[in-house]
Amino acid sequence: MKQVQTVLGPISVEQLGVSLMHEHLVIGWPGWVFDPLARFDRMKVTAMLIERLLELKTLGVSTFVDPCPIELGRNPELAAEVAEATGVHIICATGLYTNRLGIPVYFRQRSVDEIADIFKRELTDGIGSSGIRAGLIKCATGLNEITRHEEKCLRAAGRAHKATGAPILTHTESATMGNEQLDILASEGVDFTRVIIGHSCGTADLRYHLSLVDRGVFLGFDRFGLETAFPDRLRIASLAGLLAIGHARQIVLSHDHVGHWLGRPLVRTPEQQRGFARRSYTHLFKDVLPKLRAVGVSEAQVQTMMVDNPRRFFGGDY
Ligand SMILES: [Zn+2]
Repeated sequence: MKQVQTVLGPISVEQLGVSLMHEHLVIGWPGWVFDPLARFDRMKVTAMLIERLLELKTLGVSTFVDPCPIELGRNPELAAEVAEATGVHIICATGLYTNRLGIPVYFRQRSVDEIADIFKRELTDGIGSSGIRAGLIKCATGLNEITRHEEKCLRAAGRAHKATGAPILTHTESATMGNEQLDILASEGVDFTRVIIGHSCGTADLRYHLSLVDRGVFLGFDRFGLETAFPDRLRIASLAGLLAIGHARQIVLSHDHVGHWLGRPLVRTPEQQRGFARRSYTHLFKDVLPKLRAVGVSEAQVQTMMVDNPRRFFGGDY
């Protein structure tokens, strides 16, 4: 029986059910903990997240993958509390973010094998002293380039994957460098059927999508509602195109929504506010799936993307 590590312990991949493959409970940019004016009302935030996940449960969602990397405010204990209270399976990650916004100096000074050892430890023994194990590996690259430190993290992810069997989910910036990420992972011997190239919906370039699909990976159409990065209209058009030519088995869906930003809130312009207005954990179910159905996407295709593909990514045969 193939198993996946949730924040409350292992479950069989059969138990995953409808899965959102890229969401976040909390995120905080590195350094937020040093702001003496930042407040974190843990009880209030936990109660809010429980309410949101219970709403997801009424929409049929049973698994919530939170690929927050190590340095962005990851909080496995809070995730465990939310999972316990809601019955939703939550899966957290090990791994590091982009050079521009993450990879603190301590990690930049480490070798590939030292970073891989950190990832392996979090996958097999647990994160810190929590005993909570990561269920997947996150890695990330920036716009149009892969820096030296990002490459080290990709290689470390590949080595931790080889050692533990844990799958890999990546972050790409504006859907660039997906193939270059794969070139590096290939040289570490990674099994591409266990890789999601995240944020592939940041372009409507079907040539880019097909170049990735042809290598056997999953595409993350995982930023529905993030209009500030790319319009949903183009996400839906390219997704409908890929489904029409038979690629349902290589696409996973999500929002990359953040339930709570740690630290003091940012002051946003009205335009930014409008861009963020459609962000939620439920936008897919309320707005996107109806539009896909209207252009002929079948229930079976939705089931493949939201149930079967997550199971295959985490190691099941479907
Ligand atoms: Zn994310």
